[in-house]
Amino acid sequence: MTCLLCHAKFHIHYRFSDLFLLKTSEQFICPDCQQDFIKIPTEHCPRCYKSGDSQICKDCQEWESKGILINHQAIFQYNGAMHDYFSRYKFLGDYQLHKIFKSFFQKFDKNFTVVPIPISPERYQERGFNQVSAFLKEHSFTELLVKSDTSTQSSLDRKDRLNSKNAFSIIENAILPQKSS
Ligand SMILES: [Zn+2]
Ligand SMILES: [Zn+2]
Repeated sequence: MTCLLCHAKFHIHYRFSDLFLLKTSEQFICPDCQQDFIKIPTEHCPRCYKSGDSQICKDCQEWESKGILINHQAIFQYNGAMHDYFSRYKFLGDYQLHKIFKSFFQKFDKNFTVVPIPISPERYQERGFNQVSAFLKEHSFTELLVKSDTSTQSSLDRKDRLNSKNAFSIIENAILPQKSS
């Protein structure tokens, strides 16, 4: 295999249990690149997954005091490797790179409707794909949102992001999923 990130050649070592369970865990990056992506430690805010403490963090407490319950799930830390990954994937538009993380989007609760975060039509034109939908392409998902504000979230600092108006709105005449009783 050739690593999608550093282009080094590498071999995949299947474990006996993988073969037994017919698990073909596809691997697209070499072990060296793999280890640059660090999983979020078990000590994290249960609401937003910020690492460091297993208590509900100050930000989440503040949202909760306003009646908004954060319920995120995150897998990896946003470190230098992840930053570089997203620069190549999003800003350089390297579509193939969606393969690296697609296997992490496998288990969705059937009672939920999966809605990818949209990108603006201008960005779509430029990049040629929605980086979120690309991860979800083997699953069923529903496009329900449009981007109403053209600034990119990544161009804003944290304070601006928190203060920015809702950047997304529901597609006109969209059929919204009904709560199953
Ligand atoms: Zn590599
Ligand atoms: Zn939090």
